Amino acid sequence: MPPTVRDRRRSLLVAHDARIRACRACHMRGYLDEGESVPVVRDPELDAPVPRILLIGQAPGLRATITDRPFAGIAGDKLRTWFERGGIPRADFWRKIHFAAVTRCYPGRVPGARGDRVPSIEEQALCHPWLDGTVRLIRPEIVLLLGLLAIRTHLGRVSSLSDVVGTTEIRDGVRYLPLPHPSGVSRWLNEPANVAAVSRSMEILRGWVEDLGI
Ligand code: SF4
Repeated sequence: MPPTVRDRRRSLLVAHDARIRACRACHMRGYLDEGESVPVVRDPELDAPVPRILLIGQAPGLRATITDRPFAGIAGDKLRTWFERGGIPRADFWRKIHFAAVTRCYPGRVPGARGDRVPSIEEQALCHPWLDGTVRLIRPEIVLLLGLLAIRTHLGRVSSLSDVVGTTEIRDGVRYLPLPHPSGVSRWLNEPANVAAVSRSMEILRGWVEDLGI
């Protein structure tokens, strides 16, 4: 039986993912160390259609690197709880969403602090073609932008999360939803007004999912 369009798109995406996995552009330039920092890529589920939702974060964390699965830990669990309210059941988290990031390797910790380092402009530029390629192959209808770096990369200069979480942007027919990172390190989510903004975002997401029949 000849391959279907869906099979061909999936094969192209898996081949693209394999090229990302082999990338060591930042290591070769001394921005990253081999070992903890290797690309984290998750192929779409074999028995599911190519996802119509793309999530773009900042960069994988250490746990994602160890498990080779984005959002495998506590932050991912919070995200699954949010998205359940947004119309994406927990069981569909990996099937209906494709996961990408501004940079695909764990950048390491900020020395002396709890949070992860923000990837440098140089690392972002080196990784950008991978993200571009992923967007071209997925052709997402909904893009979830997680954290300020992903938001700024796609929506331009944004001064704070509070300005954009709970709002949306539609460009060329693609629906963008800015969100905070669910990490427990973030104090932004301690504010009741910000929690309410995330709830508004999940109502918007639910509406989109129903509207598009995702
Ligand atoms: S961050 Fe991106 S460009 Fe840099 S080594 Fe990892 S995959 Fe390659």
